Amino acid sequence: MVQSSILGFPRMGANRELKKATEAYWADKLSQEDLLKEGKRLRAEHWKIQKDAGIDIIPSNDFAYYDHVLDHIQLFGVIPERYNKNNLAPIDQYFAMGRGLQKPDQGIDVPALEMVKWFDSNYHYVKPTLQDNQVFKLSESPKPVVEFKEAKEAGITTRPVLLGPVSFLALGKADRGQSIDPITALDKLLPLYEDLLKQLKAAGAEHVQIDEPILVFDLEEKVKDAFKPAYEKIGALGDAAPKITLATYFGDIVHNKDVLKNLQGLHAIHVDLVRNPEQLEEVIGALGPQQTLSAGVVDGRNIWKVNMQKAIEAVETAVQKLGKDRVIVATSSSLLHTPHSLDAEKKLDAEVIDWFSFAVQKVSEVAIIAKAVNEGPAAVREQLDANAKSQKARAESKRTNVAEVKDRQQKVTEQMHNRKDPFPTRIAEQEKRLNLPKFPTTTIGSFPQTKEIRIQRNKFVKGEITAEEYEKFIEKEIQDVIKIQEELDLDVFVHGEPERNDMVQYFGERLDGYAFTQNGWVQSYGSRCVRPPIVVGDISRPAPMTVKESKYAASISKRPMKGMLTGPITCLRWSFPRNDVHQSIQAQQLALALRDEVVDLEKAGVYVIQVDEPALREGLPLRAGKERTDYLKWAVDSFRLATAGVENGTQIHSHFCYSEFQDFFYAIAALDADVLSIENSKSDAKLLKVFVDEAYPRHIGPGVYDIHSPRVPSEQEIKDRIAEMLQYLKPEQLWIDPDCGLKTRGWKETKAALTNMVNAAKYFREQK
Ligand code: GLN
Ligand code: ZN
Repeated sequence: MVQSSILGFPRMGANRELKKATEAYWADKLSQEDLLKEGKRLRAEHWKIQKDAGIDIIPSNDFAYYDHVLDHIQLFGVIPERYNKNNLAPIDQYFAMGRGLQKPDQGIDVPALEMVKWFDSNYHYVKPTLQDNQVFKLSESPKPVVEFKEAKEAGITTRPVLLGPVSFLALGKADRGQSIDPITALDKLLPLYEDLLKQLKAAGAEHVQIDEPILVFDLEEKVKDAFKPAYEKIGALGDAAPKITLATYFGDIVHNKDVLKNLQGLHAIHVDLVRNPEQLEEVIGALGPQQTLSAGVVDGRNIWKVNMQKAIEAVETAVQKLGKDRVIVATSSSLLHTPHSLDAEKKLDAEVIDWFSFAVQKVSEVAIIAKAVNEGPAAVREQLDANAKSQKARAESKRTNVAEVKDRQQKVTEQMHNRKDPFPTRIAEQEKRLNLPKFPTTTIGSFPQTKEIRIQRNKFVKGEITAEEYEKFIEKEIQDVIKIQEELDLDVFVHGEPERNDMVQYFGERLDGYAFTQNGWVQSYGSRCVRPPIVVGDISRPAPMTVKESKYAASISKRPMKGMLTGPITCLRWSFPRNDVHQSIQAQQLALALRDEVVDLEKAGVYVIQVDEPALREGLPLRAGKERTDYLKWAVDSFRLATAGVENGTQIHSHFCYSEFQDFFYAIAALDADVLSIENSKSDAKLLKVFVDEAYPRHIGPGVYDIHSPRVPSEQEIKDRIAEMLQYLKPEQLWIDPDCGLKTRGWKETKAALTNMVNAAKYFREQK
């Protein structure tokens, strides 16, 4: 029989209970015992959901209080000495590594380990950080064993999830001051996996899921070569260990097929057939004669209902080749990246809610697909019919077939992606119009979002104040920040973005084609969750979105006002995109909407316009090659389409929260933005060399100080930084600005830091 399986379930709970509990614990408002109890309650609840839905293979150890990679860091004792010093309880040591710990009264001050994005998702994991003489040590009561037993006591035999040894090491790095290449520590780490697997088996685990997601990357030879010895060793445990399902996701593994050859002794291989359905045949061909295929057909990364018919077809293709006993129906990846349940959505339009499926619903989908394959479609006729009806309704809906939008896309020409003239002509006209000094100073857009701003916004959302009252309040805020910018003597002003709740949501709410959930939270890192908007249909702009505020700001400002927009790729990447049309089409729709906004801003007298694209790099496909070049082509095109509608004399800015462009510099250059502001204060100024090497002619504002900390940089420090930048950039190219928007900062440090920044700029201006 075909079995049903879930690779992982979201941890937060229906109402983000885990977030609330951990944050209460950090604030000393909840005891450790109560925190652990809450974790246990959530695990039990999540197992029960899966069991009740009829899932055969239910995961354990997918739960984490902060991050599952951090769990493994602690599990294997990969704990830098600085976290061992203060005799912390295990859970406190764990959180100290995840988020840092500062207790001046006890003399404790340790920063967090580095956290980075998990593949191309919006989830962040804590990087394993190794020492040159790394000693591994399996924790006394290993979490996977404890949680397996916990589930068993609750009457559920689970399949524990482990991050595999090769991925664990390959995703890690050497600690600062160390030079170890993590993968070289494999031999020392493997005995711990062996020990752990034996303990799991002894506890009653028949199966274990070992994730090796790095198999979707282009791998260095030495990493690729590590799979064979690793899994030979683990495989040699035979019946002393549970049977192993090796899981990959977020891409295809065909390019690493030779690795699969060495894994034929493992019980099963899991592949993501949502992302890469075409890998099915090749992967089946590479399986060993006994090996099972776990077919990931229900999307773990999105919120759309599965197309049951298609999923069943894929599973049946596998069944024809392998037989029912050698196929498992599964989610494509862990469901970590989807919100908990649709049940909490009370305000979504009935039409679109019928298209969605969150984690709880996806669990049922997996069970239904397995049943359909096992017992024939008649056994689940009603569900299949409802699903087909929903697919059809979505395909035929007015929202997904807006003729005007499609028409307009048809009419997009190459020419529409190009500014009227090249940069030298444009900058001359802009200089005439804007009349800026050398080393112009500006900020990235937002000013502190004070408590007062949040209170008024909430009141407005709840209907406690009228639109007029709210508008008056926003105008007053704008007046205030303009006055402050005058006092600071900045050169290009911003309106401060007081009206924006979030840089994507704000635009989504003003565009047709978007939907918003009330409770669609997804874990981003630690206790932090985001609630991405959903692109449900063709996107268009019914009315100007930012013109009123920017125009007002420009009208009362003595200096050029910079309009502020979020770019098409960032709007798309920080939303749940559609899965029925290619992302390039959605990006183009967003670009056309933004193009109108850009032109309207210009008409309103706003002659500097910044289009933020902080998400451009994270959208980069995981593997180099055609997919990546294709992505960069349409991503760059969408930016150009959004911004090229203006006159030469209007200055287009763009902003990125990083400065590592080495891999795709040509695309950054191709944006043809007149001014780029980038993060640089925390990075090496040497990164700016790429602008010299590539003879980049346009203007650049590498952030001169870090806005993520309340620390005020001294004038001298900023001068030193600027001097360093001038080793790489021409003086006439250089803008002076902070690293990013100031919305998370307080006013006090903001004013102090900007005062020093402006003084530093003036100092260089006065040098001959
Ligand atoms: N304009 C935005 C702001 O200042 C940019 C934010 C970002 O880059 N993440 O807040
Ligand atoms: Zn930024």
